[in-house]
Amino acid sequence: MKVAIIGTGYVGLPTGVGLAELGNEVTCIDRDPQKIAALNSGKITLYEDGLEELFHKNTAAGRIKFTTSMKEGIETADLVIIAVGTPPHPVTKEADMKYIHAAATELAEYLQGYTVVATKSTVPVGTGDDIEALISKKNPFADFDVVSLPEFLREGFAVYDFFHPDRIVVGANTEKARNVIKELYQPFAGKTNMLFVKRRSSETIKYASNAFLAIKIHYINEMADFCEKTGADITEVAQGMGLDTRIGNRFLNPGPGYGGSCFPKDTMAMSYMARQNDVEMTLINAAIAGNTKRKQQMAERILNAVKDIPNPKIAVLGLAFKDGTDDCRESPAMDIVYNLLEHKADITAYDPKAMGTACRLLGDKISYADDMYACLKDADVLAILTEWGEFKSLDLTRAGLLMRHKNIVDCRNLLNIESALANGFKYQGIGKKIENKEKLLREVA
Ligand code: NAD
Repeated sequence: MKVAIIGTGYVGLPTGVGLAELGNEVTCIDRDPQKIAALNSGKITLYEDGLEELFHKNTAAGRIKFTTSMKEGIETADLVIIAVGTPPHPVTKEADMKYIHAAATELAEYLQGYTVVATKSTVPVGTGDDIEALISKKNPFADFDVVSLPEFLREGFAVYDFFHPDRIVVGANTEKARNVIKELYQPFAGKTNMLFVKRRSSETIKYASNAFLAIKIHYINEMADFCEKTGADITEVAQGMGLDTRIGNRFLNPGPGYGGSCFPKDTMAMSYMARQNDVEMTLINAAIAGNTKRKQQMAERILNAVKDIPNPKIAVLGLAFKDGTDDCRESPAMDIVYNLLEHKADITAYDPKAMGTACRLLGDKISYADDMYACLKDADVLAILTEWGEFKSLDLTRAGLLMRHKNIVDCRNLLNIESALANGFKYQGIGKKIENKEKLLREVA
């Protein structure tokens, strides 16, 4: 199938590369000439595990190309996928539709023959109708259907998720459009759930899912606060909860709050849509407010750990919003760093993949280290903010020798508490009350 993808970002690029790998002829279109120039010169523009290899394989095979020209990609396409951003509106926090509207208007004049226009971007309910109207206005003779094809990939696992989707949701109002999407996903037939629904249902499924997951994270974070006060251990509590298949064991890791390019904006957009429709969504609103507060609380926790030290040096491990990605959009780690900077903190940070992205945002406001041990040199506290696997293997004896004070605030519960205490560290995790180091060490012994 000939596929054009508009928007070559965290969704568009892995989707394009994945569809090329399945044998489709893919043209990725982006309005950012620098991005397209980089991709055309063989340079991958974002980090995702396994993406670079597939990108090179498929560009070499001529199955995927990159252009800034709508004409080049759209004219021959059987299917056009819109994967542009839908960031929060700066004032109302609803999904800002300017990129979607621009893409729909720009593509319209180049449609030739019957074409399915599918929206992978996360868009408010009713957007399919708007896109239909925009295209028809610009090109009254166009023969097309608009389909909602929400994306459920997880950043950090985009390639894996492309080839192993939990579900494929298709919101199509015509049989002809449904058949085009069925053909596209033929390689997954019988291997995953494929759900065909009304277009408006499909648009809602994406927001309903993301808001639910955000609420789940907020819930376990509040439960972690409760554990800290009562002496229960959140890891054990989450384990016990997760054994109930009705609850499920995923998204029960407490931390510094949810972040990334989806949950914060999608919860706000859902809340806005609910208000517009006179529906009260108290849970979503509580999660939004609680999540904002949580990041401040984490910053306070770190500052509190060094409150008696003059001009303390803070070592930060992790800046990406989660492991496996270089994406720092709405990263709790970044928000915590910004918060610490408001208190004039002296910060040195390290992230295995997000140093470039973070540096573009933070500039010289903080110092950057080449690895996790360099980051710890002369630090008065170590704050672990992203759950990168490599941080788990931190040699605590070596860390203790490098740091000025042996102090850890582990916002991801990554380190082994007994080992931290045995190495003489003061340790704070999430949802764990560590009141008596000697007793804990005796229990371990
Ligand atoms: P992104 O910002 O990484 O990429 C968007 C790209 O679209 C940019 O490269 C931009 O230059 C390009 N663009 C914007 N307008 C254009 C136009 N008119 N013509 C051509 N190119 C244009 O965004 P993303 O993270 O890939 O997200 C895209 C959409 O997918 C959003 O709606 C998001 O909510 C949704 N989504 C994202 C994820 C994720 O994990 N990132 C997961 C599921 C859904």
